[in-house]
Amino acid sequence: MVVVVLRPLSLCVWLYVLVAHKCDMEPLLNLSVVNHGRILCPLLLSISKLSVEKPSHCVFQRVSLKLAAKVCVCSRVDKAIAIMALRICFLFLVIALLLAISTSTCVQNVSFSYSGATGPEKWGSLSPNFSACSNGKIQSPVDIVKGILTTDKRLKPLTRVYGASNATLFNNGFNLGVQFEGHVGTLDVDGKNYDLKQMHWHSPSEHRLNGVQFPAELHLVHQASDQSVSVVSVLFQFGKDDILISKIKDKLTELAQETCKKEEDAHIPLGTVDINEFQKKSRKYFRYVGSLTVPPCTENVIWNILGKIRTISQDQLNALKAPLDSDCKNNSRPLQSPNGRKVELYDELRDQ
Ligand SMILES: [Zn+2]
Repeated sequence: MVVVVLRPLSLCVWLYVLVAHKCDMEPLLNLSVVNHGRILCPLLLSISKLSVEKPSHCVFQRVSLKLAAKVCVCSRVDKAIAIMALRICFLFLVIALLLAISTSTCVQNVSFSYSGATGPEKWGSLSPNFSACSNGKIQSPVDIVKGILTTDKRLKPLTRVYGASNATLFNNGFNLGVQFEGHVGTLDVDGKNYDLKQMHWHSPSEHRLNGVQFPAELHLVHQASDQSVSVVSVLFQFGKDDILISKIKDKLTELAQETCKKEEDAHIPLGTVDINEFQKKSRKYFRYVGSLTVPPCTENVIWNILGKIRTISQDQLNALKAPLDSDCKNNSRPLQSPNGRKVELYDELRDQ
């Protein structure tokens, strides 16, 4: 919220200084250090080039760029234009304040966030459709501690057959992800097939292992023909670059820019994405029945958390967070009570 107000405010202050200086009006700041033209123009231009996170900021960016261009080529600014510019500044400031009050959520069309009045503790009361978030008894994520672990001899290796498909990178405000078109792969859970629909990242991780929270968690969301959902979760610790994120790094930067242009969800076509690297048979995983970790917190989701921890670099994590709004940069739902649930462990090496 602070950023929403500060950016246009700083723009307004600079415009005021510029206009006051050009028109011999009472300056707001000490202008002795300001050599107009040589200092103000680059400053105004740099403000106009600030990276933006919200669609509303783009308006300020565009306007400041136009004003900078105009002011930098004109040797004189008419007093009437100056007064008009100040009025426009004031109007923008009012709009910015209104936006700051109204946009406590990540994007306008999403009615929840990860902090404050629309944060996780309030999700259940934000909409009747979200009631499971507060009333549910088998919610996710959970901390996978020894006390709730059981070994189920009937569990089989987690079989996934993935290939390549046309995909789109999306930012829905509360997380970033990749949406697949058509058939890209299948997960086999106890003989039932679930098709891979999309994957998205959370940071820091939502699930924990023995109380340890990881820097990031990837959710591969699968759906069966009866609409039931099963998620494969991959935990990340800091280390080498993740191969998949390396492939889409440029597109993440593009997404951050795209997010600023549109009022609604931003999408970047990725072309054909091959995710068969995830196909490896998992020799160790944790299974339990929980829920979606975002509203509407729908229950009876079958979770499969892989035992193999992958690596991600700090740079990559920053790139994943950059396009998200400040309220959702940390998009990890707090831990939920197991409520007597057990987490089943499949460990091929231990079972032998
Ligand atoms: Zn998720």
